[in-house]
Amino acid sequence: MGSAASGEAIRSINAWSSATRTPQASATRKVIEEFGSLTFNEEVQRARLPKDVFRALRRSIAQSEPIDAAVANIVASALKDWAVEHGATHYTHWFQPMTGITAEKHDAFLNPTGDGRAVAEFSGKELVRGEPDASSFPSGGMRSTFEARGYTAWDPTSPPWLLVTSNGTTLVIPTAFVSWTGEALDKKTPLLRSMDALSKQAIRVLRLFGSKAHHVFATCGPEQEYFLIDRQFFFNRPDLINAGRTLFGAKPPKGQEMEDHYFGSIPDRVLAFMMEVERELYKVGVPVKTRHNEVAPSQYEVAPIFENANVATDHQMMTMEMLRRIAPKFGLACLLHEKPFAGVNGSGKHVNWSISDDAGSNLLNPGDTPHDNIQFLVFCAAVVRAVNKFQGLLRFTIASAGNDHRLGANEAPPAIISIFLGDMLTDIFQQIERAGSAKTTKSGGILDIGVSVLPKLPRDAGDRNRTSPFAFTGNKFEFRAVSANQSIALPIVGLNVAVADSLDYCATELEKNLKEGKKLHAAVKALLVKLVKDNKRIIFNGNGYSEEWQKEAARRGLLNHRTSVDAFGEAMKKDVVAAFEKYGILTERELKARYDVAVEQYNKSINIEAQLMVLMGNRYILPATFRYQRELGEAVAAVKAGGCTSKETKKTLDTVCRLTDQCKTRVDALQALLEHNEVEDAEAHAKYFRDKVVPAMAALRESGDSLECLIPQDLWPLPTYREMLFVK
Ligand code: ADP
Ligand code: MG
Repeated sequence: MGSAASGEAIRSINAWSSATRTPQASATRKVIEEFGSLTFNEEVQRARLPKDVFRALRRSIAQSEPIDAAVANIVASALKDWAVEHGATHYTHWFQPMTGITAEKHDAFLNPTGDGRAVAEFSGKELVRGEPDASSFPSGGMRSTFEARGYTAWDPTSPPWLLVTSNGTTLVIPTAFVSWTGEALDKKTPLLRSMDALSKQAIRVLRLFGSKAHHVFATCGPEQEYFLIDRQFFFNRPDLINAGRTLFGAKPPKGQEMEDHYFGSIPDRVLAFMMEVERELYKVGVPVKTRHNEVAPSQYEVAPIFENANVATDHQMMTMEMLRRIAPKFGLACLLHEKPFAGVNGSGKHVNWSISDDAGSNLLNPGDTPHDNIQFLVFCAAVVRAVNKFQGLLRFTIASAGNDHRLGANEAPPAIISIFLGDMLTDIFQQIERAGSAKTTKSGGILDIGVSVLPKLPRDAGDRNRTSPFAFTGNKFEFRAVSANQSIALPIVGLNVAVADSLDYCATELEKNLKEGKKLHAAVKALLVKLVKDNKRIIFNGNGYSEEWQKEAARRGLLNHRTSVDAFGEAMKKDVVAAFEKYGILTERELKARYDVAVEQYNKSINIEAQLMVLMGNRYILPATFRYQRELGEAVAAVKAGGCTSKETKKTLDTVCRLTDQCKTRVDALQALLEHNEVEDAEAHAKYFRDKVVPAMAALRESGDSLECLIPQDLWPLPTYREMLFVK
């Protein structure tokens, strides 16, 4: 019962705020000491490994070189000793199957000796390779159950860490997951491959500018939005438990319109939760940095300091897990769904992305000197080309049933992929384009690329545009269409591949021109002019939420896939497959597997949600309305027996009867739609869900929500939006 849940929630909230807690003295010092204390990080490696082994390991991490068996054995032994000293009894190869969550299988270090005792053992072989049964993870048709063998392979670039629970400690080793034929079954393998591809092509370009860098890597800082509600409410909502979002729920009288939540003071209990999450994340080396309230009531955000994109991806998975795991300790439930509450802002995950060389310099930092500027402009224009050419791929990387509720809903970017560059940078690109034809080439200016008066490049993008799916924000790009619930691996892979392709193009053009005797600046000028001319349609600085943009984007020929179902097919487009194959990221078969899994997950999500709606209609909402019908019926009869008539009471009864019938009809209609024969083709099935089932769900929801507004509070069986979002 909603009111019972509400009572429980209020009791637990009161109990929480009346409990006295002593503030932690010297918390900052403690946090600094504790940071990374549960990771086998560089410092621990240096202290525990022989010098030559340490150097070999660091070299292979920095340059993505393979590690030889002898080195692996010594690392394994040191890693085991370190873990056992910290209380670990087990180790696990931790991996990220295509479902977008993480998986682990635990093995004990314990090895029996002949004399009835046991010792802790861990070999290089066990470190380097694990063999989980792969049959329960989706392979997108790449593998059938009888050939279930899968391997997990140690990723030395991401530091192992200790999972400490009250019942024991486990050493967690980040790994990639491949089939016995070597096909990628996970999210990390293509990510690692894409990091390499990006590095190779970026280095080619950097060489031309005289850089001595050996290696380049994508950097990422993902901002995670989430909701926190009292756990009592969560347990009383079957939809939240099973679908992660509310499938019914009328808009509360007060929503987010007062704008009093964003950056407001954080409630005590929530702050205590955040602090504990941060402490635990610090220990395992996740550098979380900012916390604040978000736009919607009960919505919050946490963001880390950026890192190597591969490590950032692991850390992002750990962050989501930690948020979910720690919430119950504070009587809370953490909702990571893209759209837990209709009519209230959903949750995104802004993926901040840039490229850095091995000396740590950010290649998307405009810099102060003209030399830096030219190099920056090439990299920046390469990203513009990448996003233009691979709009479809990027749209695919964020497609899911959940994100369909967000994109284009006036709270998140539209489903059209475009780039926001800001006025200053756009102006520079326009000058470059004009200069190409307008013969204004002057030497001795700030930039010798045909632009005479070049404004100083923006160090800090003063202007912000929240409506853009992909924005330049001073020294990095921010991919904003990514959703709260998803792994960031695929969006990063998409960006890395697209930009690798662009840098390849740039390097090839420049190399050709230099060979033909052109000077570097002239070659760069020609390249930039061409890049801008060919790709400027993707640049859009205006209001992405507006109706005009939809029309303008159509005129420009940009893709506009409003639903995920429209977008899935982009994964298999010729250019996309060609790029994935060319740079060795995924074969066509491996890519097809990602497409299959995405469609399958869409179908499963909608199917589960629709079934849940039928269940909630029949077992929660309709029984409540039947009771109310009887109460009203009795009231009408009693009034009549008392010698009166009340037209309004009768009218209420009529309304409730009409809405109840409508609700029942819609429950049955939805159920009938779900009882169709399994459609062979998954994409056809997805279209059926989108075109038939989703609208039927919306219709049923409308009936349910109208009833919610009429049924007395003591009869309504579900916690309401007003309670869930505001009782805290
Ligand atoms: P805002 O909310 O204004 O977008 P925040 O400071 O909250 O900004 O978040 C910005 C995110 O971008 C942080 O996670 C930060 O680490 C990340 N970031 C900053 N520089 C880079 C970079 N060079 N590469 C990748 N991510 C970056
Ligand atoms: Mg941001």
